[in-house]
Amino acid sequence: MPRVFLVGAGPGDPELLTLKAHRLIAQADVVLHDSLVDRRIIAMIRSDALVIDVGKRCGRHSATQTEISALLCRHARGGARRGRGIVVRLKGGDPMVFGRATEEMAALDAAGIAYEVVPGVTAATAAAAALKISLTQRGVARAVHFLTGHGAEGGLPAHDWVALTRSGGTLAIYMGGETAGGTAAHFIEAGMAPGMPAIAIENASLPGSRIRRGTIAALPTIIAEIRASGPVLVLIGEALRERNEDAGCRDHELLAMTRYAAD
Ligand code: SAH
Repeated sequence: MPRVFLVGAGPGDPELLTLKAHRLIAQADVVLHDSLVDRRIIAMIRSDALVIDVGKRCGRHSATQTEISALLCRHARGGARRGRGIVVRLKGGDPMVFGRATEEMAALDAAGIAYEVVPGVTAATAAAAALKISLTQRGVARAVHFLTGHGAEGGLPAHDWVALTRSGGTLAIYMGGETAGGTAAHFIEAGMAPGMPAIAIENASLPGSRIRRGTIAALPTIIAEIRASGPVLVLIGEALRERNEDAGCRDHELLAMTRYAAD
């Protein structure tokens, strides 16, 4: 039985934790967590557990990835001597989406330490829920792309802007706030219509979440307006276009029919 768990903490709302994540957080002897993890989730940790904030925000690294991996292995070995010996590495959203899980799993593998991964709700799907926009839509958006706006070298990564534009899928850009200007310029240069809908959402799933809607051409303005202090996700694509009057009317009728059927 693995005693080390890479756990997804979801986008913030504690109710979006999986039951498994909730159980492990409450049972853990050692928790190593990111700064993105909500304090109400941190409050679920046993008061006698060892809690280490390895949080790192863009530009203000409080621990390097190598240090975090080493810390995780050290506690995984030592953790067996405490209580049940459950070590939880708690990460915002889903651990396997822009969570540097590969490095931590490689370190655990190299140390011969067994582990399990517990998925979480990732920011893109939390944003879709908050916005009431399906990321995929029949005939409109046949793919979803998760992109990072912040590459290993610091700036905007060299995405294949033309291929992404041609795909016509919904684009979810993580860590894309600072590089929004470059993102917009690259997509427009690649042939994306300047009027393509774009939305920035800060703190999806949390109270006080902020949303700005506009177009790819206006993306830098949208980002500037949101003046975020929390994490921001950028969505781009046709799927974001406001439903037209007709569709709204149909939705309404459908709702009425559903009510009628339920009566
Ligand atoms: N593993 C995480 C992503 C970590 S990268 C996940 O699956 O969601 C950090 C980026 O995620 C942030 O810069 C932001 O783009 C996005 N993000 C995380 N939580 C968010 C939230 N509640 N609202 C909006 N964006 C969020």
